[in-house]
Amino acid sequence: MSIEFVSRLASIPIYPVARAYGFEGELVKLASNETPYPPHPAVLEAVEAALRGLNRYPDPTATALRTRLSERYGLPAARIAVGNGSCEILLAAAEAMLEPGAEIVYAWPSFTMYPHLAAMTGARAITPPLDADARHDLEALATEITVATRILIVCNPNNPTATAVDTEELERFLDDVPRHVLVIVDEAYVEFAADRDPDDTLPLLDRHRNLVLLRTFSKVYGLCGLRAGYALAGSESFPAAVDRVRQPFSVNALAQVAAAEALLHQDEVASRVERTLVERLFLEDELRDRGLTVSEGQANFSWVSLGERPEAAVLDGLAARGVIVRGGTDLGGAGHMRVTYGTRTENERFLAALDEVLAEA
Ligand code: PMP
Repeated sequence: MSIEFVSRLASIPIYPVARAYGFEGELVKLASNETPYPPHPAVLEAVEAALRGLNRYPDPTATALRTRLSERYGLPAARIAVGNGSCEILLAAAEAMLEPGAEIVYAWPSFTMYPHLAAMTGARAITPPLDADARHDLEALATEITVATRILIVCNPNNPTATAVDTEELERFLDDVPRHVLVIVDEAYVEFAADRDPDDTLPLLDRHRNLVLLRTFSKVYGLCGLRAGYALAGSESFPAAVDRVRQPFSVNALAQVAAAEALLHQDEVASRVERTLVERLFLEDELRDRGLTVSEGQANFSWVSLGERPEAAVLDGLAARGVIVRGGTDLGGAGHMRVTYGTRTENERFLAALDEVLAEA
């Protein structure tokens, strides 16, 4: 006899991790949509100061962090949830809202965590494709809504394709979504969008009680090693449900102080966004000059079609040269690669390696 697991375990996908290669030398890590910039010095100081208090449990309500988010966004703290990464909030939403017979709708390819939500709860996932430009087709999503739909997710900008829908489109879409459906707009990369004010979705929260904007400290704030994310909600019921289903001390003490401090340094955020934009324009031009098709990106990464070139050979060739990017097959889009922008030096190493690989392919 061996130990037994719940039958749905077999259908829960394994989150794809970036491959680590036996490359002797400094790896260029462009596979996980991280920022190449270290945390702000004031954030490091705040974390160091908090180290001496680690014999105490963290604040289970993350009050200081939620208050700071509340001040920044002009939203009552009761409409803000913080989580051990925004992934925890997604998982908690699933636990609180999905069950056999319920449905969740999201486009595909999109963030690789979403398939977990149906698989772990026994709900049904409805996953219409992105359009021909790898953008969300909001009309197609809307037509999938039924009385059984509990959650609909729009990843904007979308991971892995980097494409975004604009706020007016989103607004029109929300007007048509019935109120029994929770709409999660996953804005993990929203700060990097060049064509809009990242906060122009906030007013939608006051018009749509069924809306949640999901954000994270993992990307532009550069704190993914600590795990902190947050949700801004149209009503108090969502944060209350999230708090109810998960363990009480899920956001650790260092993550709470780091995130609260990071919020105070918006000049640093602006400078990172600026540097990311410069790298986006540089890499998009360079990739297109090489005859590759790159989607219209609004994030800190590009989605690149490899055409006829074999994906595995390109990935292996880059890895052999110390450059790690993510293959499209792992992300629901075979024949592509997703490359996160690094520093200029890293991006140049990527391009040099790519030139050698393309010459071989
Ligand atoms: N949403 C999207 C679209 C993401 O790409 C990611 C990270 N890869 C997350 C959410 C989760 O980020 P975290 O849990 O680190 O906040």
